[in-house]
Amino acid sequence: MTELLYQTDSYLTEFDAKVDSVLQEQRAIVLDRTAFYPGGGGQPSDLGFLTVTGVIYPVEKVKKQGDDILHFLGGNEPLPAVGSASRGTLDWVRRYKLMRTHTALHVLCGTVFRDYGALVTGGDMDPLKGRMDFEFERMRGELVREIEATVNNEVAMAREIRVKILPREQAFQIPDLIRTKINLLPEGIMQVRTVEIGLCKVFSVN
Ligand SMILES: [Zn+2]
Repeated sequence: MTELLYQTDSYLTEFDAKVDSVLQEQRAIVLDRTAFYPGGGGQPSDLGFLTVTGVIYPVEKVKKQGDDILHFLGGNEPLPAVGSASRGTLDWVRRYKLMRTHTALHVLCGTVFRDYGALVTGGDMDPLKGRMDFEFERMRGELVREIEATVNNEVAMAREIRVKILPREQAFQIPDLIRTKINLLPEGIMQVRTVEIGLCKVFSVN
């Protein structure tokens, strides 16, 4: 089971961890703790590198599998031994761009829901670039410019962003979260990480 350091500190760029298991065929390793985000909520997984006993392995992909986070390593060096001490370093420039893009997309969907009641039906995310699909009765250029101006106004207000980890029952009592389909949360999940961006609240799952 990997401790998810990114859940409690989104600004952690480097960390020490122990190699818990090695998957030779997949060229992947599991660490006891990690700051590498495995992707989710439309945000792609982190990249970076891992240094183990002097060898620098590029981290090419990160994936969540059950309670483990798999780090897929590039290069040709033999994989490290189980129990080795390692140091992870995130590609922070890319990750920070993704964090900003992710937050911006939530400002967009929060604004569109508040002002037009339209829900998100799809989307895509890259560093500093994103797409969101909404269901509108009629779409016109004028409406797009109106939304753009409102969203820019919300951004200019520099609203506070609060991250909380709440027990499931408490999170269920936030009406805005129910709107974002919290009822789809699997039953086993007892804690919910919520992100509040001034007007809209979102959640992510452990
Ligand atoms: Zn999100």
